[in-house]
Amino acid sequence: MYVFKFGGASVKDAEAVKNVAGILSGFRKDQLVIVISAMGKTTNALEKVVNAYMEQHPSVDENLKEVKEFHFKIMKELGFSETDPVWAEVNNSFVEIEWVLEEKPQREYNFCYDQIVSQGEMLSTKIISAYLNSIGVKNKFLDVRDVLQTDDTFREARINWELSERLICQKVNEILRSDNFIITQGFIGITSENYTTTLGREGSDYTAAIFSYCLNAKEMMVWKDVPGVMSADPKFSDEAVKLDQISYHDAIELTYYGATVIHPKTIKPLENKNIPLRVRSFKAPQEKGTSIGNYSATKPLVPCFIFKSNQILLSISAPDFSFIAEDNLCRLFGVFADKKIKVNLMQNSAISFSVCLDNDPFKLPGLIAELKKEFTVLYNDNLRLITVRHYYPSTIDQLMKGKDILVEQRSRQTAQLVMRENAA
Ligand code: ASP
Ligand code: MG
Repeated sequence: MYVFKFGGASVKDAEAVKNVAGILSGFRKDQLVIVISAMGKTTNALEKVVNAYMEQHPSVDENLKEVKEFHFKIMKELGFSETDPVWAEVNNSFVEIEWVLEEKPQREYNFCYDQIVSQGEMLSTKIISAYLNSIGVKNKFLDVRDVLQTDDTFREARINWELSERLICQKVNEILRSDNFIITQGFIGITSENYTTTLGREGSDYTAAIFSYCLNAKEMMVWKDVPGVMSADPKFSDEAVKLDQISYHDAIELTYYGATVIHPKTIKPLENKNIPLRVRSFKAPQEKGTSIGNYSATKPLVPCFIFKSNQILLSISAPDFSFIAEDNLCRLFGVFADKKIKVNLMQNSAISFSVCLDNDPFKLPGLIAELKKEFTVLYNDNLRLITVRHYYPSTIDQLMKGKDILVEQRSRQTAQLVMRENAA
């Protein structure tokens, strides 16, 4: 039993869906749970619908129309006539959105967000499941909300593992008795009160990991538009090489520092059951990609780079220049936790404490205002944070050349540099 995950880019138009069908036909003999994201940029488009709705802005209709037309076009190109039952299915999803939109927002943003944005995954899986069946790639559609139970932290829902595991095993094994392929949604779940939740942006990887864990999958495969996990983002570095294998430990570190190939929450459930994760290309499905697993070392063992732009460095000190000691640090981390701030790097001296953070325009002003109640806060923005795992001293010298470096930190395996962004 394998768990596959296809992200938005792999199903962004009719051509892409046909390509996925081609890949799946090659696995007919295997039992697969296939987790799929919303098509292309649908999640962003539905976010626009939610935002307009919450502000009661008239653009809401236009925004929804775009999402509809995008999906209708794909359905036509996949050869569905308007009498095909899948049209009614897809229309049901839109009707569900319209029901929400008809009334003024009754509840908070995060709740409304989940009720609307979750339909992106419902749409894609309805269309793809029907298409596969229409060309003879037999599969059963599973509404993930029948099995993936969460709490009610909307937009960041936490899994009820015990219940989900029981339901997933029951339901999936029942279907697999008669069918080899199950199509289901990534990213979404359901509360005990039957409200739809989402697991956080890019959460479909996590869904696939949950299924893999609960079903003791042989391997989880994430199909992407890159050859595998690269040692650096090719956008920033022309020396990027594909890694053949990565240890769980390295994978967790890399995603923690901001590598975006896989969702950071994905690795842990897999590691717990020693299930390997393969990242491979839907454009070159014959290639092996990258395997993440219980390896003693990453291969090839080259320096891995993670570039994060739009960083801000805060230097925090007490107004009377007293020491930044444990009591102050405790207070500071209380504020970070409260504001849901992730610290990318930190450093302290006797009288000041520096943190490098994503310069999030929604979170930072509130954070700074809160800190200023008790501390003096200075900041530098327009910074870039470079994290290098498995570095050589020469790697770092090279990176620093001619750059304006604000912070440099090295541990045995990992080095981090904060530099001014304009330093190309
Ligand atoms: N569709 C969701 C998103 O774009 C989840 C995912 O793709 O993993 O964030
Ligand atoms: Mg996506």
